Amino acid sequence: MSQKMEFQTEAKQLLHLMIHSLYSHREVFLRELISNASDALDKLRFEALTNPQLNSGGDAAIRVRLDKDAKTVTISDNGIGMTREEVIENIGTIARSGSKAFLEKMTGDQKADSNLIGQFGVGFYSVFMVASSVKVITKRAGEGSQAVAWESSGESTYTLDDAVKEGHGTDVIIQLKDEEAQYAESWQARSLIKKYSDFIAFPIYLPNDKGEDEVVNQTKPLWRRAASEVTAEQYEEFFQQAAGGFGKPLTTLHTNAEGVLEYSSLLFIPASAGYDLFTMERKHGVKLYVKRVFIMDNCKELLPDYLRFIRGVVDSEDLPLNVSREILQKNAVIERISKALVSKVLGKLKEMADNEPAAYKDFWKNFGAVLKEGLHTDYENREKLLELVRFQSSMGEGADDLVSFRQYADRMREGQKDIYYITGESRDIVEKSPHLEVFRSKSIEVLYLIDPIDEWIVGDFNNYDGKQVKPVNKGGLDLGELGKEEAAKQEMAATEFSKLSERIKEILADSVEDVRVTGRLKDSPACLVSGEHAMGAHFEKIMKSMGQDVPLMKRTLEINADHPIIRNMNARFERDAGDAELAEWAKLLYDGALIAEGRMVPDPLAYSKRVNGMLTKISAP
Ligand code: ADP
Repeated sequence: MSQKMEFQTEAKQLLHLMIHSLYSHREVFLRELISNASDALDKLRFEALTNPQLNSGGDAAIRVRLDKDAKTVTISDNGIGMTREEVIENIGTIARSGSKAFLEKMTGDQKADSNLIGQFGVGFYSVFMVASSVKVITKRAGEGSQAVAWESSGESTYTLDDAVKEGHGTDVIIQLKDEEAQYAESWQARSLIKKYSDFIAFPIYLPNDKGEDEVVNQTKPLWRRAASEVTAEQYEEFFQQAAGGFGKPLTTLHTNAEGVLEYSSLLFIPASAGYDLFTMERKHGVKLYVKRVFIMDNCKELLPDYLRFIRGVVDSEDLPLNVSREILQKNAVIERISKALVSKVLGKLKEMADNEPAAYKDFWKNFGAVLKEGLHTDYENREKLLELVRFQSSMGEGADDLVSFRQYADRMREGQKDIYYITGESRDIVEKSPHLEVFRSKSIEVLYLIDPIDEWIVGDFNNYDGKQVKPVNKGGLDLGELGKEEAAKQEMAATEFSKLSERIKEILADSVEDVRVTGRLKDSPACLVSGEHAMGAHFEKIMKSMGQDVPLMKRTLEINADHPIIRNMNARFERDAGDAELAEWAKLLYDGALIAEGRMVPDPLAYSKRVNGMLTKISAP
């Protein structure tokens, strides 16, 4: 049955780009088609595990045929093949979200854009960079399949027809454009296969000068080779093509483990974050192979979620070939491999942090927020993770100057017992927080926890190296030796201002839990402090922004006994305890403390009326 079909709109868009915009790196079409052929062979091997009759003889292989005179290149595989419906689904439409992301990410920079081709898996269409027309003849493995021929010149339509094909698998027959005839040259094809597809696990045959089929690639999967046999270029190629990476990997971890557990792993830490780091559906991750047989993409059981930026392959000798997702979930072998991999990755990161601080900084910029999740979920590796986290800090030069707990501890002031942090929305806001005043005056460093995730993990810090990790805006402030002077002053002032504090507490009864004289302020008149175990103000804000109902948490208003406003209030209070203006002042004090935290005042209109009322009283000079 013959059908003429329209490409789906997005497919058309993509084809248009392929044909008209991407002029450089056209040679990658070959690696894309070979990679598809290799995937098709993997899929067949996997299906044959549960359906042995699919393995209908013939060694799995990819064959490339060239015809210089006719200007054709044919790439054949005896893999899984496609039904008519699958052809329509797979190469008539772009169903995968990655392709959309590809279109959005196009920059116009041809080299970068052609690299994107591999990353986003829109590989098949790349053939139209060199082809004037393409014919795909394919037959799904399995009894009674009807072969089908797909043909298109990459414009807006394609045709489908019944076809005759002996075995299962797929032939892609490329009619090269006149100016691309070089790709039908044997030396050209050979060097491209060597360059881009050497690591493919199936043999790739190409006829030699005498017309005899010859295997061009190494066939032994890259991850099964000794690390010393693999070049940096080969790793890079593998990273981009097989692992869905982009550009050069930041680091490569290649292990062949023997002993109790036997497996090979080839893992990459990418140099930049993929588009799917924070989406639910991840296409890439760590692929699982068992005894060289491909089992699945993105095997989540192999690495915890907080290492989801890692890409690569794990190939186990100890798992049964017929593993299913269910088996994987509580499989002892997988658990042990996973443990070993986590340990390796964290060890490698530590090494990088110690020896290549610049590279580690890049890593942290891209993946720090993800890695931090581990503090909340991986108790076992808490100590290691604490060594890896980085923060901005009050001693840092700027947003780029990051500090570790170790550095913090090493440069703590003599007599300082605890490690301090402040949480908030941005460096700008926390930097100006009144809570930092006493710390600044005493040159005590404060870590800035300004990632949204930080609010979730502060509870997991507890302590580092025997030191408590404390928020600057919760509970009473105890600077120990360093705060002796303030503590003494505070005690005296507390008595002096106790009546005023009582009065303010009465006035603000609906908003605050308590009012007390503070030791943490130098320049500001007042600030708000949460209870030691209460939810932080910033956390409250985050919860609210997520639509959570947060019960009103009354906090303590701390007042600065050295501040003229507070001194004046006290004087007025002593003259007339019922002074009506005291209420206005107290309310402004409270609103001012909220604003200093970067928060909204509860009643902006009343606030501005109050300010205007005050200003009106100032007489003109
Ligand atoms: P990707 O390979 O990244 O999914 P492609 O555009 O290269 O994207 O291919 C689209 C789909 O077409 C593949 O996912 C696969 O299902 C199918 N396909 C392509 N080539 C082959 C082939 N040689 N054998 C079987 N299926 C294929």
